[in-house]
Amino acid sequence: MTPLDKVGEFGLIGRIQQTVELTQPSTVLGIGDDAAILAPAAGQELVISTDLLTEGVHFDLTFCPLKHLGYKAVAVNVSDIAAMNALPTQIVVAVSIPPRFTVEAVEELFEGVKLACEAYNVDLVGGDTTGSRAGLTVSVTALGQVEAGQAVRRSGAGPNDLLCVTGDLGGAYLGLQVLEREKQVWQADPESQPELDKYPYVLQRQLRPEARMDVIHELRELGVVPTSMIDVSDGLASEVLHLCQASGTGARIFTENLPIANPTLEVANEFNLDPIMCMLNGGEDYELLFTVPLADHAKLKNHPDITIIGHMVDKSEGANLITKAGQPVPLKAQGFSHF
Ligand code: ADP
Ligand code: MG
Repeated sequence: MTPLDKVGEFGLIGRIQQTVELTQPSTVLGIGDDAAILAPAAGQELVISTDLLTEGVHFDLTFCPLKHLGYKAVAVNVSDIAAMNALPTQIVVAVSIPPRFTVEAVEELFEGVKLACEAYNVDLVGGDTTGSRAGLTVSVTALGQVEAGQAVRRSGAGPNDLLCVTGDLGGAYLGLQVLEREKQVWQADPESQPELDKYPYVLQRQLRPEARMDVIHELRELGVVPTSMIDVSDGLASEVLHLCQASGTGARIFTENLPIANPTLEVANEFNLDPIMCMLNGGEDYELLFTVPLADHAKLKNHPDITIIGHMVDKSEGANLITKAGQPVPLKAQGFSHF
């Protein structure tokens, strides 16, 4: 294990730089100068988004491997680019590192960053590296491109548009419940072995989420342009309300339609948690929530990875969850709040 002060800031940056491969045509110059140089393609608009992950707030290094953290930090930013209907092209990564970290630990973090760069086809073109007197923070800024006028905002939904979600919900939240339980067990008895093998699905949902770029490409192939879109970072209920507020509509989503994976349902039962609440308020699933015109129903209804969970309605009706019995329950945003 190599202490950080042995290689210094520039040594560390040099090691990160060595692992980087640039593949994007719009990257003219990457790491190594005062700034990167990019040449966006003609007719494209740039989209840009930042997410800051702070130790103790967003992640807990007792159970989050650094490689997964690096991957997740990139994935959650790519998810924001996807939610604009854009394609990600470059990222910059700023880290502030506590002195207890070794060079190898930082390299593991950046190995995760590199894996995500390969998975999403983005170039790491810069960043910043400093020490930290508190915990680790990782800030990623992602850039993307979209044909001018084709970006999808939160504000474009109209009444009767279908409300769709990708993948399944609640898994990331239940993964966190498992990790927190095992941490408590371990703190009480450091000799104990954590029981994590039983929960591969929900743990992967929590520790290694994926941005749904695959769905962005598929929608393009289907010729479907969402009227509004957002990624599910804080919980479905909160995101539906965001779309409604930005678009000036109400919404109806149906309990029976909400997608949950079997392993997620099993963990919810084990923890005595209501699976519907986990799906509505869990957060961190990083699926895409979007609306499409009713006319696109046939194109999406049999898609294996897209579920139509309801539709938009007039603003006066508000945003409601319709229970199996047909009862409307007003949606409330109970997603994660930092303050
Ligand atoms: P400056 O003093 O101008 O901020 P730095 O010494 O911080 O320059 O950075 C030198 C180069 O290394 C720059 O190209 C910067 O973008 C890159 N860089 C620094 N830290 C990181 C990092 N954590 N990840 C990727 N690139 C980085
Ligand atoms: Mg710097």
